[in-house]
Formats: sequence, structure tokens, C-alpha cells
Amino acid sequence: MPDNIFVTRPHLPPLDEFKSHLDKIWETGVLTNCGPYHQELERALCEFLDVPHIALFNNGTIALVTALLALGVRGEVITTPFSFVATSHAVFWTGSVPVFVDVDPVSLNLDPAAIEAAITDKTAAILAVHCYGHPADVDAIDAIGAKHNIPVVYDAAHAFGVRCHCGSVLTHGDMSVLSFHATKVFNTFEGGAIVCKTGEMKDYIDKLKNFGHDGETRVVETGINGKLSEVNAAFGLIQLKHINAAIERRGTIDTTYRKAFSDLAGIACLPDAGQIAANYAYFPIRVTSEFPMSRDDLFYHMKAHGVHPRRYFYPLIPEFPMYAHLPSANIDALPNAALGSQEILCLPIYDTLAPDDVDRVIALIRDAARTA
Ligand SMILES: *Cc1c(COP(=O)(O)O)cnc(C)c1O
Repeated sequence: MPDNIFVTRPHLPPLDEFKSHLDKIWETGVLTNCGPYHQELERALCEFLDVPHIALFNNGTIALVTALLALGVRGEVITTPFSFVATSHAVFWTGSVPVFVDVDPVSLNLDPAAIEAAITDKTAAILAVHCYGHPADVDAIDAIGAKHNIPVVYDAAHAFGVRCHCGSVLTHGDMSVLSFHATKVFNTFEGGAIVCKTGEMKDYIDKLKNFGHDGETRVVETGINGKLSEVNAAFGLIQLKHINAAIERRGTIDTTYRKAFSDLAGIACLPDAGQIAANYAYFPIRVTSEFPMSRDDLFYHMKAHGVHPRRYFYPLIPEFPMYAHLPSANIDALPNAALGSQEILCLPIYDTLAPDDVDRVIALIRDAARTA
């Protein structure tokens, strides 16, 4: 049996490059508390991502919680059922309640008309996701936020480096939140960040992520510990040197898959959202009713042959027990998300995925179509 192929494999730079940074950390004894590597990575990311202000975090979930707290969000938060569960968990941890509305049938990002229809006087924020790194309808969503005077936060965990019609997609809304988890396009083992618009807001977020400390003896907020360590930050600086090459390789795989499935009935590649620069974070296909096997049968068939795609996102967030009781969790009212959840399969894509292995994934799906 050939080696297993998983949906992703974390990007790791040459270990030698990391060692000199570790030597430095051992020499200085500065391990955390927003030290020199932390500061350097914030500067480097502002430049690389072309954003005005960034605050690093120890993971994306704490960054999401802190973003909502920093904006004073408390009440109902309109969000997507079609995401990783952390999107809703973050809402819950701020004492707010998620309100699920349906996604667009093609992009699987929040449908602006559904957001607008769900706004009430209890709506405290909109939390949208750039699913698979495909930009949400940022102009329409930002306009809804502005019209109703409610903050807009983008969970941009999938959207590192993505550019849309007006530059970095991360400059939309009031804040955008990144994840640098091991499985994401850019990783610091664990990590995350908030992108915000003003220096004052960054200072406030920096206090919130450090217990609310303001200097040595004053505590001005009930903050949390959201700091990224020096080891993680130093690692991020090394990763950044290799990220363009890694994204380029992902792009080649994306092209290969799209070509391979262009004539295969029942396999539909998700169109990219017309972004100027993509990051190819995921390769979602829809296994439609035209395919001779169900999505789940294809999923288990591939696993039996050592290829491990993922059903992102199945189940939908509102199907999980802590959300299922909410009035907005009725799946019948979320038909586009429900169909996506039944049809989507995310295929392996990562920079070190060998061309032969890409061909193996393709052959497995094409053979399944022929022999089913
Ligand atoms: C990964 C992810 C998160 C959580 O990020 P962590 O860094 O793992 O805490 C949040 N939202 C989405 C959409 C994600 O994919």
C-alpha cells in the first residue's frame, strides 16, 4: 500500500535557518512578553500583507474573542453556519449568541441579503468568514455594517495573503482575524493575529492580550493572555521567507486539479472568487448528484486507498449540540449551507505534495467515476 496522503501537511522551513534564532533566544533569555522577535514579525507582516496595524496572538480563536471584545460586541452576532466551529465558539466566549444565516450557493460565503434580512435591534455585530480563502462579498457586507452602525469582523483564518479588487482583503470591516495554526497556509505552529485600522485600537488590543496591563502597576482591563511567544514569532519570520514559493506551488496544484476535473461529470471545482491574489489554502470540489457515487462513498473509498480528503464543513456548526437549540439553527432555513455540507470534499493541497501524488488523487477520483 502506498503512503497516506493527507489533506494538508504543515509547511516547515529548513531547520538550520531556525537554529540561529533559537541561539539568540537562549542568549538573551527573552522568551515572550512581546519581545524583539514578536515586534519584528508584526512589522514584517504589516509589510507583507500590506495592512496598517497587526497584533499577534497565540492562536486565532483567542484573537477572534479579543477582536469581538475590543469592539464591545455583546448581543446577537450574525455569522455563517459553514465554517470551522471556532467561528461560533468565539462568539459564545464573549457572552454573545450566534445567529446563523445562509450562505451564497456558489461561493459558500455569507449571503449579504440573508444578513440584511436577519438584522434586528439586538444585532451587535457581523462575523463573516472568507471561506477557503475566497473573499466574502466584502463591499456588500461592509455596507450593511455601516448602514446599521454595527461592527463587521472577518474571520480571515483561511485568507493569509489574499488580495481582492482593492488590495489586501484583510483591510475590510473593522477588523480581520488570522490563524497561524499548523494546518494553515502560513503557520507559527500555533498563532494568530488581529488586523485593525488605527494605532489606538492596536494599543487597546495589545493591552487586552496582556491581562489588561498598562505599565508595571496599572491594570485597566480584564484582559486575557493572548501573547505569541518569541519562539513562535521567530519561526514566523523564517516561514515568511518561504511563503511566496509555497503559495506558488499550491497554485500549480490548483491548476492541475482544475484541468483534470474539467470534463468529469459530477465533480465541480469551486470557482475562485475573482481575487487578485489567491493563496490556494484549500481545494474544495463538489461531488454532485451526477457523480455515480455519493460524496461520502467517495470519501470512504479514497480513505480506503490511503488518500484522506476532508469534508470541510460537515457537520454544519448549527448541527453541533451547543448550537442546535438556537432558533437560527434550523437547517431547513439554511439550504445552501446544507447542500454545500453534503457535497464538499477538500482535496489534498500543500507545497510539498509531489506531482505523482497529485496524479494519484486525480486517478483515484476518475477511476471511482468509471467503475462505480
Ligand atoms: C483555524 C480556524 C480558526 C481557529 O484558529 P486557531 O488558530 O486554530 O485557533 C478559526 N476560524 C476558522 C475559519 C479556521 O479555519
